[in-house]
Amino acid sequence: TTNGSKDSRKSKDKLLGGLLTADFDEDSCLSRYESSLYRKPSPYKPSRYLVSKLRSYEMLHKRCGPGTEAYKKATEILGHDDENHSTKSVGECRYIVWIAVYGLGNRILTLASLFLYALLTDRIMLVDQRTDISDLFCEPFPGTSWLLPLDFPLTDQLDSFNKESPRCYGTMLKNHAINSTTTESIIPSYLCLYLIHDYDDYDKMFFCESDQILIRQVPWLVFNSNLYFIPSLWLIPSFQSELSKLFPQKETVFHHLARYLFHPTNQVWGMITRSYNGYLSRADERLGIQVRVFSKPAGYFQHVMDQILACTQREKLLPEVFVLETQVTNTSRSSKLKAVLVTSLYPEYSEILRQMYWKGPSSTGEIIQIYQPSQEIYQQTDNKLHDQKALAEIYLLSLTDYIVTSDSSTFGYVAQGLGGLKPWILYKPKNHTAPEPPCVRAVSMEPCFLRAPLYGCQAKKVNITPFVMYCEDRITGLKLV
Ligand code: GDP
Repeated sequence: TTNGSKDSRKSKDKLLGGLLTADFDEDSCLSRYESSLYRKPSPYKPSRYLVSKLRSYEMLHKRCGPGTEAYKKATEILGHDDENHSTKSVGECRYIVWIAVYGLGNRILTLASLFLYALLTDRIMLVDQRTDISDLFCEPFPGTSWLLPLDFPLTDQLDSFNKESPRCYGTMLKNHAINSTTTESIIPSYLCLYLIHDYDDYDKMFFCESDQILIRQVPWLVFNSNLYFIPSLWLIPSFQSELSKLFPQKETVFHHLARYLFHPTNQVWGMITRSYNGYLSRADERLGIQVRVFSKPAGYFQHVMDQILACTQREKLLPEVFVLETQVTNTSRSSKLKAVLVTSLYPEYSEILRQMYWKGPSSTGEIIQIYQPSQEIYQQTDNKLHDQKALAEIYLLSLTDYIVTSDSSTFGYVAQGLGGLKPWILYKPKNHTAPEPPCVRAVSMEPCFLRAPLYGCQAKKVNITPFVMYCEDRITGLKLV
């Protein structure tokens, strides 16, 4: 059953099968240990190897993190490329810097990607804190911080690491400023990796084995990325066996990483729990519907509404409504209650659903309750409250029993992965009409790498690797199954 009452479920597994460390103070971040009160236990267990890898990562982060001697030493070499010896004296600590770009879903997916890359390459990950990241998430690593100190020597340059930047790997390859095949290459003290959706073939060389050998030696890597690039890491031969040990169930990569890394701050957790306890917990079943409209202009469209109704009714996620007044239905106080959480920038979709299930009885006798926490109208990334609402809604979607998501939306990908849910994906509408069929059930809960490299060094592997497939919602994207 899906009895949602919080009190009926004692938390038996607040550390999520060893995924979480017990080393944190509970009050500073209630969501970390309370999430298990709101979620059904995940059927997917983290491997013991992943658990031990996380514990050793935490130790490494403590040794190398901000405020340590090692961090100080590592930052001192920045900008001293000419002295060839300087990079050699860097010590055991090597770093990855995450820059906040694009919307929250994009950001969460790149944080997870960078973190896994850090695990694979024995680096620690530090995050650019100039935006509102610390208003959204608690610290994930105990006894240290993942926030990049504001006085980091390259802070002023972080925003210049774009497509043309002479410090980015692809540009350096193009300009012959670096060469992955000769061993005499001078190893720079830092390198930026440009992995944004419009990246080119040189940038994509990041995913080649020989380039990884060179990149591995660079003490500081700064990632400017908005892509979930984990599927392509599996296609790099030297990473594959380690990845299989970490994640014997391949479609659980983001699921575990997200539950490990992303713990909403107390402020956001308050929003989540108030919504959940007020509108979702008493329902017998919970359905999430995420409506993201990518057309320009965006907003309310009849064909999108038609598509949502066609999908949810055909897939029996929502009942039909009797329109005839004469229809006698026996809804009683004990009727099954189904709560529908709608998330969208726009208010109309949920409002139409709400009226529909009020005006007429449902064909199944179920009572349908519609709830949309916010209606922001416009994307306002980096506005603190706006981003907090977005995170709360992503998280709430992940607490439902079934979800319907919009195609190619990282917002939806995060919700499905956190929740361990295989969504029904609404296909991208064409020519302002609802597509037929309106939606498809995803094969796995993994996010899609929307702009995966399909040629070059990865070309052969894409087609012969059984656990990567082209995404349901993007024929040129790749996902793990
Ligand atoms: P994507 O663009 O769909 O891949 O998702 P992103 O999360 O990266 O960017 C979309 C941004 O628009 C979100 O981060 C929010 O700021 C905003 N947004 C989009 N849809 C919603 C929604 O349903 N609820 C809320 N609160 N914000 C949304």
